[in-house]
Amino acid sequence: MNLILFGPPGAGKGTQSALLIERLNIQQISTGDLFRAAIKNKTELGTKAKEFLDAGKLVPDSITNGLVEEILRKLNGKRFVLDGFPRNVDQAAALEKLLETLHLKIDKTLFLEVPMELLLNRLAGRRVCKNCGTTYHVQAKPPHNAGVCDVCDGEVLQRPDDKEEVIRTRLEAYDKSTRPLKDYYKAAGQFIEIDGTGSTDAVFERMTKAMQVKC
Ligand code: ADP
Ligand code: ADP
Ligand code: ZN
Repeated sequence: MNLILFGPPGAGKGTQSALLIERLNIQQISTGDLFRAAIKNKTELGTKAKEFLDAGKLVPDSITNGLVEEILRKLNGKRFVLDGFPRNVDQAAALEKLLETLHLKIDKTLFLEVPMELLLNRLAGRRVCKNCGTTYHVQAKPPHNAGVCDVCDGEVLQRPDDKEEVIRTRLEAYDKSTRPLKDYYKAAGQFIEIDGTGSTDAVFERMTKAMQVKC
């Protein structure tokens, strides 16, 4: 099963992808994670992407599409979930072409819907392990020891783009560029809208039920 998981920033895409890869043996392809890793490692990609992430703006399609192509070409038959890509209609069209070239197919497109007031709380409260990337939330999922990752003892920090100023720009970018994808994928078929409110487990159960898979 190959999936696209999309939705507003803070909807829980990363959290739900982590559960999917744990239980379905598929690979997560998160463009946000790939950009952050490139920035951390100071690669050429990282240098190009940094100003956009810092500002909360979308990285240009020419850079993003190339990155996804590189990853998809190296899959070797492994199933995948695209988390955070595509993020606009042009990326969706580029993906469609690329999948055709590589003889790959998306089975389901899942859209996680979460109301704005919850998104703000999820984004402002998000904390991430600097070392292994495990995601926490100050209220919903704090680490056992404040500031210390449960998994690897790494430092748990706020993402620079989870500051209020940048959150606003990201939500605007979502409304302008990503939300229109809903209609694009509704028209394409295999589109499932999932209520992303409630506990992480409740959302995961809704997702797997909607996909008709057992986890
Ligand atoms: P969130 O999980 O909050 O939605 P991501 O980790 O997916 O955020 O993305 C963080 C940032 O990385 C975005 O604000 C944007 O700058 C960049 N980014 C991620 N995916 C894409 C994409 N498909 N196209 C353009 N920019 C992207
Ligand atoms: P996205 O990848 O869509 O930006 P994340 O998965 O990183 O979203 O989740 C954003 C924040 O909300 C994180 O701090 C995460 O721990 C928290 N979170 C995710 N799902 C839920 C949920 N169902 N209930 C409460 N908090 C959640
Ligand atoms: Zn960690």
